[in-house]
Amino acid sequence: MKIAVYPGSFDPITLGHLDIIRRASAMFDKLVVVVSVNTAKSPLFSADERVKMIKEAVKDLSNVEIDCYEGLIIDYCKEKNIKILLRGLRAITDFEYELQIAQTNKAFSHNEVDTVFLTTSLEYAYLSSSTVREFASFHGDISRCVTDYVAQKIYEKYGYDKQAIGG
Ligand code: ADP
Repeated sequence: MKIAVYPGSFDPITLGHLDIIRRASAMFDKLVVVVSVNTAKSPLFSADERVKMIKEAVKDLSNVEIDCYEGLIIDYCKEKNIKILLRGLRAITDFEYELQIAQTNKAFSHNEVDTVFLTTSLEYAYLSSSTVREFASFHGDISRCVTDYVAQKIYEKYGYDKQAIGG
């Protein structure tokens, strides 16, 4: 059985992440989306909230599971006996960073874990969780960036109403 892990902060999940998840779910027997818990960072959404938003977004994909993990993703892979990591690439700027992380993960897992990259669909190439958060913090309309459910959760976080901006 081909199982891949798609790790990330997903703070929050965007349509770009979702596009990668959908395409990967058709390529692997099972895909585990893992929310990385980093206690050094202060995310907008708690790990539980992020898991809940991802679950809602992928509810129609029967071979996608969600988990969260505090620690090195290669340790998670070892615990679960998974050998494929999935990452998304938006631009050449992602590539330099991702290449280094992929090589580190490969070396530190004693060549057990390989990383597979999917390139973004062009319509989502500009999307990132951080720009969605920043745009929303200024009450921007983020309805083209995230699912309706996620948009509602973000509007709630920033204490404003979607109706008020005509969304
Ligand atoms: P991290 O915080 O580890 O960078 P993110 O939650 O931002 O994780 O993203 C997880 C993965 O999804 C990364 O591989 C990232 O490059 C990819 N990704 C993020 N946004 C997009 C997008 N719009 N299109 C394709 N891949 C994306």
